[in-house]
Amino acid sequence: MEGKDREMKGIVYEGPNILGLQEVGDVSPGPGEVKLRVRACGICGSDVHGYLGITGRRLPPMIMGHEFAGEVAELGQGVDQWKKGLPYIPWISAAAVKCAGRATSISA
Ligand SMILES: [Zn+2]
Repeated sequence: MEGKDREMKGIVYEGPNILGLQEVGDVSPGPGEVKLRVRACGICGSDVHGYLGITGRRLPPMIMGHEFAGEVAELGQGVDQWKKGLPYIPWISAAAVKCAGRATSISA
């Protein structure tokens, strides 16, 4: 399973009206970070407006989808208050998130 995690593709916002399936590589958690395995992701109105290039709040290249749920997949060094497999629903408006090494949007 770990090997499969290293081969990851993502749908990347490349510009107004353009989404591409790209190899996005792996994200390993740094010290004090956790890696989340996304199990479900919603597309909200802000994502749609960003995709259309209306708001200017989505800057390519970007993996969209800031409303998601999943589980803790990997622990970074020094993390002891989380456990692998723990369900997680982030409150993205209050957190910065890296998705496959690229910033994802942090506000609705
Ligand atoms: Zn949203």
